[in-house]
Amino acid sequence: MIDKIKSYNDVKTSVTNCHLCKLCNSRNNAVPGRGSLDAKILFVGEAPGKNEDKWGLPFIGFAGKLLEDALKKSGMERDNVYITNVVKCRPPNNRVPDKNEIDTCLHYLKKEIQIISPTIVCILGATALQSILNLKNMRLYHGKTITHNNIKYFVTYHPAATIYNNDLKELFFKEINLVVDMTKEKL
Ligand code: SF4
Repeated sequence: MIDKIKSYNDVKTSVTNCHLCKLCNSRNNAVPGRGSLDAKILFVGEAPGKNEDKWGLPFIGFAGKLLEDALKKSGMERDNVYITNVVKCRPPNNRVPDKNEIDTCLHYLKKEIQIISPTIVCILGATALQSILNLKNMRLYHGKTITHNNIKYFVTYHPAATIYNNDLKELFFKEINLVVDMTKEKL
């Protein structure tokens, strides 16, 4: 089945109809990634939340607004990036997705990266960091660029983690600016 996914629309259709893990039982809508198919930055968060589950769209709540603000401040419109999550269905009560759910869903993210082929993949938060690069310490890796299997990654905090912490929010804005600047170097 995975080999049949060749385009963004294939990803969207497969995710929307996916029943490969138990998260399909509690979701209202699966949430495929969304954004520019020519994006130079592909952002990856943890999982859809309540609003995302309701509308089937990624990063439309408060965390999404923060990311949008940080992008705008760096001179980048949200429409010019691609935004997705490690798992595409909301875990009940916003719990962290478990290993089986992540391992089962990760092939969709791999396809998204392959199809969009961004200059850089921006990892948002600890769950994405561990799921994609098998690294654990956000404090150690945030603000860093890591190349793995010929894909360039940049690590920063999940915007939701910065909502009640002004210092972290400032750092998040700085790091989004950094990653946007990296893509401008390539223009
Ligand atoms: S989380 Fe991923 S693997 Fe699980 S049902 Fe949703 S789309 Fe399928």
